[in-house]
Amino acid sequence: MSSPSIVWFRDDLRLADNPALRAAVDRGEKIIGVYVLDEESPGIRPLGGAARWWLHHSLASLGERLRERGGALVLRRGPADRVIRDVVTDAAAGAVFWNRRYGAPERDIDAGLKASLREDGVEVASFAGSLLFEPWTVKTGGGTPYSVFTPFWRACLSLPSPRAPLPEPREIDAPRTPPASDDLDDWDLLPTRPDWAGGLRETWEPGEPAARARLHGFLTDDLDGYDRARDEPSAGATSMLSPRLRWGELSPFTVWHESVDHGHAGGFLSEVGWREFAWHTLYRFPDLATKNLRPEFDAFPWPRLKPSHLEAWQQGRTGIPIVDAGMKQLWHTGYMHNRVRMITASFLIKNLMIDWRQGEEWFWDTLVDADGANNPFNWQWVAGSGADAAPYFRIFNPELQAKKFDPRGLYITEWGADTGIDPIVDLGTTRKRALEAYDVVKNSARS
Ligand SMILES: Cc1cc2nc3c(=O)[nH]c(=O)nc-3n(C[C@H](O)[C@H](O)[C@H](O)COP(=O)(O)OP(=O)(O)OC[C@H]3O[C@@H](n4cnc5c(N)ncnc54)[C@H](O)[C@@H]3O)c2cc1C
Repeated sequence: MSSPSIVWFRDDLRLADNPALRAAVDRGEKIIGVYVLDEESPGIRPLGGAARWWLHHSLASLGERLRERGGALVLRRGPADRVIRDVVTDAAAGAVFWNRRYGAPERDIDAGLKASLREDGVEVASFAGSLLFEPWTVKTGGGTPYSVFTPFWRACLSLPSPRAPLPEPREIDAPRTPPASDDLDDWDLLPTRPDWAGGLRETWEPGEPAARARLHGFLTDDLDGYDRARDEPSAGATSMLSPRLRWGELSPFTVWHESVDHGHAGGFLSEVGWREFAWHTLYRFPDLATKNLRPEFDAFPWPRLKPSHLEAWQQGRTGIPIVDAGMKQLWHTGYMHNRVRMITASFLIKNLMIDWRQGEEWFWDTLVDADGANNPFNWQWVAGSGADAAPYFRIFNPELQAKKFDPRGLYITEWGADTGIDPIVDLGTTRKRALEAYDVVKNSARS
C-alpha cells in the first residue's frame, strides 16, 4: 500500500531548489504539500499585517503551481506539532520532509516533532534550504561564533562554495483524495475594513514566478551598477528581493549561483552575507527582538515614551523630509530603501529617544519583508546594542544624509513628504541629549 510523503512548506514557498520537495520526489510515493498557519505554539511571533498580505498571495500562487503539476497543497491552522501529526494520520503518510528553520521556538517544535514521528515509525528528514551556510558550520579558529561581519563573511567565503540549486520537479503526484484543507480566504490574511493594501498590490506580485522574473531583471539591468548606486534611494538600483528571500520564493542558493554566473557580484553577495550574519546571530541569541545583545545597553535611560512623537514618526509627519518620505514609502508599499531604513531608525532612537523595540515592532507590522532575524538585527545595529553595530555615538544627521544620498530631493518628492512643516524636535539639542544618555551606558559598562 502507498504511504504518501508530506512536504511541510514553511518559509520556502517555492518549487525550485526546494530540497524537502526533492527528497519527497526521490522517495517515489504520492506527495502532499502542507502549510500550517501557527499562531498558537509557544514563542512563535505572530505575523504583522503586511506579512499576512504577502503570505496570502504567495500561498495562492504556490497552491496553483502545485496543482498544475498534479500536486496538492493542504492548508491547516493551529499548533504545528499537533496539526502535522493530524495530517500524517489522515493521510497515512510514511514520511515528512522539511527545510530547516533557525529561530529557537521553531527549532523546538521541529525537534519535538521529529522525535515523536520517528518513534511512530514515520521517516523524517530536514534539509538546508534557507541559508547558504548552516549556523553551526561557521566558527572562528577558537571554535566560537563570529560577532564581527567582515571576518564572518571571509570565513564563509573560504568554505566550500554553496551547492548548486536543485531543479524544479515537473510532475508532483498527489493522492486521489488528499486530506481536507482549509480555504485560504477563511484565514482572513487580507485586510478588509479598511483595505489598506492598495499600494502593496500596485508594487508587488507575490509568488515564485514573479520572484524569478525580478532576479533576472535585476541581474540583467542593475547588478553592474549596484555598488555605485545602491545607497541612492531614488535610483531603483537594488534588487528588491528581500520579500522573495524572506518567504523563500527564491532560495539563496539560486541567488548566489545566478549572481556569480553573471559576474561583478561581490558587493551584492556581501549584502546577502549580512542576511546570513543576521540569522547566525539569531541562532545564537534567540531573544534578539526583545533583548539588547550587548547587556550594557540595559542601562540606557530611555525617557518616558511620548506617544505623539511615535505617531508622528509612524505617519511620516516629523517635519524631517527624508524621514517622512521613508515612512510614507513604508506605509504605501510595505518596503523602504535600506539607506532610509537606517536614517528613519536612527532618528527614532537617537533624536526622538524612543526605544528601538518600538520601531522594530512598527517595521514588523508594516514591512512585507519583515524577517525574524534581519529586522531585530538591523534595529540593534542602528541602536548600537547589537552585533558589529554602528557605534551609538555616531549619530546620523538626517538632513546631511538627505543632501548626500538624495541631493536633488527626488525621493522626498516621490513619496510626497511635506517640506513645509516644522520639525518636531531640534536636531542639535536632541543629538546632545542622546550623547549624554550614551554616557550612562558607557559608565555602566565600566562599573
Ligand atoms: C532598521 C532596519 C530594519 C530592517 N529590517 C529588515 C527586514 O525585516 N527584512 C529584511 O529582509 N531586511 C531588513 N533590513 C535590511 C535591508 O534594509 C533590506 O534587506 C533591504 O533594504 C532590502 O532591499 P533589497 O532587496 O533591494 O536589498 P539589496 O541591496 O538588493 O540586497 C540583497 C539582499 O541582501 C539582504 N540584505 C541587504 N541588506 C541587508 C541587511 N542590512 N541586513 C540583512 N540582510 C540584508 C536582503 O535579503 C536583500 O534582499 C533592515 C534594515 C534596517 C536598517
